Amino acid sequence: MKTEKGTGASPGVGNGPVFVLRDEAPDVPEVDDPAAAVAASMELVKDDLRSLQASAEAAGRTEAAEILGAQSLMADDPMLSDAISEALEGGVALGDAVTSAGKSIAAMLAAMDNEYLAARSADVLEIADRLRYRLAGVERLGLAGIEQPCIVVARTLTAVDTAGLDPELVLGFAMEEGGPTGHVAVIARSLGIPAVVGAGGVLAAADGAGQAVIDGVTGDVVFDPDEEAAADFSDRANRFAAARAAAEQYSGVEVTFGADPVRVAANVGTLEDVDQAVAAAADGIGLFRTEFLFLGRSSPPGEDEQFEVYAQAARSFTAPVVIRTLDIGGDKPAPYLNLDAEENPFLGERGVRIYESFPDLFATQVRALLRASNEGDLWMMLPMVATVEDLDGALKIIDTARKDLAERGVASGDPRIGVMVEVPSAALIADQLATRVDFFSIGTNDLTQYTLAADRTNGRLNAYADAAHPAVLRLCEMTAAAGRRHGISVGVCGAAGADPVTAALFASMGIDKLSVVAPSVNTVKALIDGLDPADAGPILDAALSATSAEAVRALVSPLLA
Ligand code: PEP
Ligand code: MG
Repeated sequence: MKTEKGTGASPGVGNGPVFVLRDEAPDVPEVDDPAAAVAASMELVKDDLRSLQASAEAAGRTEAAEILGAQSLMADDPMLSDAISEALEGGVALGDAVTSAGKSIAAMLAAMDNEYLAARSADVLEIADRLRYRLAGVERLGLAGIEQPCIVVARTLTAVDTAGLDPELVLGFAMEEGGPTGHVAVIARSLGIPAVVGAGGVLAAADGAGQAVIDGVTGDVVFDPDEEAAADFSDRANRFAAARAAAEQYSGVEVTFGADPVRVAANVGTLEDVDQAVAAAADGIGLFRTEFLFLGRSSPPGEDEQFEVYAQAARSFTAPVVIRTLDIGGDKPAPYLNLDAEENPFLGERGVRIYESFPDLFATQVRALLRASNEGDLWMMLPMVATVEDLDGALKIIDTARKDLAERGVASGDPRIGVMVEVPSAALIADQLATRVDFFSIGTNDLTQYTLAADRTNGRLNAYADAAHPAVLRLCEMTAAAGRRHGISVGVCGAAGADPVTAALFASMGIDKLSVVAPSVNTVKALIDGLDPADAGPILDAALSATSAEAVRALVSPLLA
């Protein structure tokens, strides 16, 4: 038996035979004209990516299709081929030239310390890997080699890998890299696949192991468990399954904390996710991340194309559908924006900050949202607001878009407008922001990374990635209090909304909406319904004065037993 510990990234217990995802590439024979071989094989790689994209589209796996689309665009970029040519000219052997060029470009992107480019860095490695297999004439099996239900153990999975996982075959995964609020974790949660990330020694420990059990809450990973460990994990699995089954009775039920309603809505990124949210009977959509519509393509979607998507989402619920305007920029650059690379992209041109530089891009989205708001209870939400000026600038563009539509006689609604509170300054000036908007939604993923100054994608900093830290909780409480003073709704749409400890504290703060991935909607409803405000209130005071996230967890856990 071998035990490893990482960070829980997607709840649930997985138990099955080990499938180790190997990283090492096959041997590539030398050829007479390596440059021609690279060019020909790169064409095959592009064909592979396009056909994978087509099958992902046909299977309705939109996120995977979009990422594969982005990869085939990237394969068109001469950056990798140029670096390979340079290495070949320097006398490096063909296979090594491909691998080293891929690694050096990936390292350059990763060094930019930037969530989106870090994801692109994994894409470059994947393209180089595919190219190496094509040059070697060897079939690349990867995750496609999984034939029976298993636990996948890997150095890292890409977002494409994760979006393409079949929950029937992948009973869980544990990887060495990654953080609990990164893209891979978000997708695993939406698929309901238990996952552990940032588990440093997991590959070495998996070597020669037959069976693995993982706990996606505690981050425990055990290989070849002995009888006692097996029984312990089987207990945990039973408790988790029983909690999920018991939560089913909450499907479609509106829950309260004491007398106050707490809506449990869903976070989505695509129309497929919206369908999943409808199936989960969520209380509306609390966060529609619209970036997915803009990434992985060579030009932005037009007003009508956007309108169709937003209108369909709005029509799917009678409850509010909160659609966030674009959160791209320095950290998730769309190639057609031609944004400069930045030293510190998380502190750079992102979200609302780019709207003034790209007025057409934002105004087009706003017009589509205003029109779609006629079709349902659509709320418009602005990301990354740090100052009153940020907000006023965006509100001005929204106003102009409204007048534009009116002048053209185009029907539009009057959506509520809100801000995401995800930058500490926004929480600190919540009173000033509250007079200008109709609602707040706290983005605990970014609020935690900015409050504790810990990059949310850096697996080595996972100890900081905990919204239960009293510093983060205090900012949430300030935001909730400002919302109360000004009579506006305050919700939470970061991952902490689905964490029982923080969810209980948010309810005690008077937060009226938690937006979580669809598979967690009913369990969060069950949790809220089980809380007694008489017990939870005093614990909130103690939590705000605690010294660490661990101490907060110890205080709140008895409430959840
Ligand atoms: C957040 O920051 O908590 C959030 C919900 O937004 P995103 O994860 O898309 O940055
Ligand atoms: Mg955010």
